[in-house]
Amino acid sequence: MNNILRIAVQKKGRLADDSIRLLKQAGLGIFRNPGALTCRAQGLPVELLFVRDDDIPSLVAKGVCDLGIAGENVLREEALEALAETNLQTVRALGFSRCTLKLAAPRDGGIKAITDLAGMKIATSYPEILKEFLCDQDITAECVTLKGAVEIAPALGLADVICDLVSSGATLAANGLVDFATVMQSEALLVRSPARWNDDKEALLARLLRRIDGVLASRATKYIMLNAPKDAIEDITALLPGADAPTIMPLAGRDDQMAVHAVCRETIFWDTLEQLEARGAHAILVLPIEKMMG
Ligand code: ATP
Ligand code: ZN
Repeated sequence: MNNILRIAVQKKGRLADDSIRLLKQAGLGIFRNPGALTCRAQGLPVELLFVRDDDIPSLVAKGVCDLGIAGENVLREEALEALAETNLQTVRALGFSRCTLKLAAPRDGGIKAITDLAGMKIATSYPEILKEFLCDQDITAECVTLKGAVEIAPALGLADVICDLVSSGATLAANGLVDFATVMQSEALLVRSPARWNDDKEALLARLLRRIDGVLASRATKYIMLNAPKDAIEDITALLPGADAPTIMPLAGRDDQMAVHAVCRETIFWDTLEQLEARGAHAILVLPIEKMMG
């Protein structure tokens, strides 16, 4: 098993689909048998282990798995709890499962700022992160740990305030809560075990990372093609977000027009397209890029 990379991923939940999608886009053939807890990928010597996200930090810290994909929030909570040695190494921030750990209180309850927290009861699934935050803010409050359904704690009289993960804010609103402070931002991270690996395994990780980097780069990047009047080319290329050295070509049969093709490494908003059009650009196409390397 020494030259196979074992990766722990969430079995089911908010991280699961995007974790598998990333690995598939990096060229791993993943055919899951329903109910199976492991899966040998095709394409590279990789085995996946499907587990609960809370178990990922310690599985990787103990070297049971070489790599893991977990939320920053879970990794930090486990590290603070010292269940997982703190020497897990983050190899990549993956940009998905973004959420924010926030403090929120009942809409009409009078708790509106961090300074109102002194002496309050705060319900959370992340007691260690919350304790660290309160300590940094020099506030003494009581933490009530709940594994789930934290949002109903105030209505049940279990707590005055909650500290919970928020993405859209819809769950908070549905429970009559309003957020008033951010404790931490989180996204999915790829972490590796602290164990020493042989050269072959290091090379395998490097190969996988190159592919993952290609996938992540292509997600943020678009290919733009447009036609424009010759005398507007300078203005137009200056408007392209994050584009280096666009390709500028003549258009057959149109002496006054040129074609511009460029890789844009930043989001192309509708505003930008409107500005391009206002400067005479037409036949504007924005295309996704599937893979990038080099
Ligand atoms: P498991 O059964 O694996 O223990 P879980 O119920 O603890 O699952 P999920 O709700 O699937 O976990 O969330 C997994 C991770 O997804 C969170 O730890 C967090 O990093 C991220 N996440 C993104 N958005 C949200 C959100 N709105 N609420 C909760 N978690 C979110
Ligand atoms: Zn969990």
